[in-house]
Amino acid sequence: MLKVQNIQTYYGNIQALKDVTIEVAEGEIVALIGANGAGKTTTLMSICGITPPRSGEIFLDGDPIHDFSPENIVKKGIVQVPEGRRIFPDMTVLENLEMGAFLRTNKRQIQQDLNYVMTLFPILEKRQSQLGGTLSGGEQQMLAISRALMARPRVLLLDEPSLGLAPLIIKQIFEIIRQINKESSTTIFLVEQNANQALKLADRGYVMENGRITLVDSAANLLSNVDVRKAYLGI
Ligand code: ATP
Repeated sequence: MLKVQNIQTYYGNIQALKDVTIEVAEGEIVALIGANGAGKTTTLMSICGITPPRSGEIFLDGDPIHDFSPENIVKKGIVQVPEGRRIFPDMTVLENLEMGAFLRTNKRQIQQDLNYVMTLFPILEKRQSQLGGTLSGGEQQMLAISRALMARPRVLLLDEPSLGLAPLIIKQIFEIIRQINKESSTTIFLVEQNANQALKLADRGYVMENGRITLVDSAANLLSNVDVRKAYLGI
């Protein structure tokens, strides 16, 4: 469904991604793991059109999208939940959610999706009139995921959903990511430093080091791979 083929992405003269190839099939959960600075965020930014690759190609259902604007990539159904949440702190929870649907016009469907995210995260319904900036870190992550869902993504890209959250909240959020994948057959591509959690959730995983993909395998195989365990699982 999503195919990233031999992309090279630069910041000025610095090459952040070197010949990166990733495939995500429809309905899959795929994790990209790697150390701080490996190039995980840049991979997502390249897919979203925010830092487009200098060469290489990105396809959605076989159609090239690497020349598309970020807005057109969202219209094609690829929606990102950015690192650090980036919700609108001075807007209410409800307004944040409505912003997620800004490219859509069907009011009935938007209302349906609003109801859906509030059943996924009942706390957001309770807090709907509260300003986004007053939510806890975990609640902000729930809001950021929900805001992305309001765009009805076909592919949901998640950048470090576990960052800065307590273990119990991480568990809850990862369970809901699985639920979203199952219930609405949303394809999920997530990048994580928390390799253990990410690989427990994912079907397949990629390992990135210094801007290159160094390993690709089923999540189960990566979890038992000696090198992965030493480098990323602290075992
Ligand atoms: P993190 O977990 O810290 O987000 P990451 O794996 O997502 O790490 P990236 O943020 O993609 O890594 O960074 C990859 C490389 O590109 C790093 O060497 C980083 O210093 C560099 N880089 C990232 N953003 C920029 C930028 N805006 N300008 C210049 N270099 C950048």
